[in-house]
Amino acid sequence: MRPRLHFEPEHDMFRDSVRRFLTAEMAPQVARWRAQGHVDREAFLRMGAEGYLCMWAGEEHGGLGITDLRFDQVLQEETVRLTDPGFFHNAHSRLVGPYLERLATPAQKARFLPGAVRGETILGIALTEPDAGSDLAAIRTRADEQPDGSWRLDGAKTYISNGVIGDLFVVAARTGEARGRIGLFLVTSDMAGFSRGRHLKKIGLHAQDTAELRFDAVRVPAENLLGDPTRGFAYMAECLAVERLMSAITSIAHAQAAFELTCAFILERRAFGKPIAAFQNTRFRMAEMRAELDAAQSFVDRCVCLANESRLSAEAAAAAKLATSETEGRVIDQCVQFHGGAGYMEEYRIARMYADARISRVYAGASEIMLEIIGRGLGLGERDLT
Ligand SMILES: Cc1cc2nc3c(=O)[nH]c(=O)nc-3n(C[C@H](O)[C@H](O)[C@H](O)COP(=O)(O)OP(=O)(O)OC[C@H]3O[C@@H](n4cnc5c(N)ncnc54)[C@H](O)[C@@H]3O)c2cc1C
Repeated sequence: MRPRLHFEPEHDMFRDSVRRFLTAEMAPQVARWRAQGHVDREAFLRMGAEGYLCMWAGEEHGGLGITDLRFDQVLQEETVRLTDPGFFHNAHSRLVGPYLERLATPAQKARFLPGAVRGETILGIALTEPDAGSDLAAIRTRADEQPDGSWRLDGAKTYISNGVIGDLFVVAARTGEARGRIGLFLVTSDMAGFSRGRHLKKIGLHAQDTAELRFDAVRVPAENLLGDPTRGFAYMAECLAVERLMSAITSIAHAQAAFELTCAFILERRAFGKPIAAFQNTRFRMAEMRAELDAAQSFVDRCVCLANESRLSAEAAAAAKLATSETEGRVIDQCVQFHGGAGYMEEYRIARMYADARISRVYAGASEIMLEIIGRGLGLGERDLT
């Protein structure tokens, strides 16, 4: 879909420089990242040196002070297209970073933001537990306030992105008996009692490290409490809207990339004496996908504009995530079909994309949770959902 009307010339210029950087420095690393199961710390350091991490951070913390989400959108689109959706710098900058931006005290920002901007402190967020994912109000990890004002943290988390290479985690823990009474804590990987469990083996997103984390009587000093220790649930609900929009940006970019490479493939590959593209079925399915992608992209671009104006609702973010992740699944499945047997071979990018895409309908809130949130917005039920 060209042109995309919400971009200005400065976004196009930014895209050009991001493309040059990712092509030269990051794309050549992807196969190795996937083989080893995580990106190199060096990748974060290089991104930081270019100014691409936590671009929203103020200059006093080493950032660029760019709060316009369109720049993050461009960065994420090109990352997905030219490198790999498992390069989770967006989780660092736009999923976890905003908790610091919104909730951290000036002293906490001064301690943690410069390292995050430079890529020296890799960020992660630990909400999900073995027995609580969609139902975040049911988490069991406990934080008990101690007489000296510090907190004792006990519990286990799972499926945590950047869990192997991360240095600083925003950890959600119960701070009382009432359901949903949750606090958020800044836990650094060098704290006594913090440990990493298994580096989990996934069917896709092989460049991204996903791990278990454990907290055994971790003493979290009072100065590492993030915001009000009873309002964590509300904070998560606030931050999840932009997180879901980033997920939508990723899904639609991934689907667009799959579509583009399939367009090239079907013009080359021949059967029954003609290119696969020459069959009416191919043309119709490709045309359908073009229309579906354009419609979803317009909605995502609109949501980016709403987020820039602080007007992105939880319902719109949920709708964007739902629509794009389902589109991503459908489009990539059809693209695999057009690749024939090649589409099932690891050496073809489309096969890897197929496996990478599957999680989009589950993480950052499963499609069913998105439906619940949208339904709640219609006045059709009330649930304590994030
Ligand atoms: C690669 C990867 C990276 C991740 N990164 C992180 C991270 O960095 N930090 C983090 O905290 N978590 C992370 N997660 C966890 C992820 O957010 C959860 O897996 C997700 O929220 C679903 O939770 P669950 O796995 O416990 O599934 P469950 O909550 O057990 O749900 C299973 C299924 O049940 C159905 N379901 C659940 N509730 C409802 C309902 N109310 N109505 C209808 N159907 C329902 C849905 O089909 C759902 O998919 C990651 C997961 C993966 C796989």
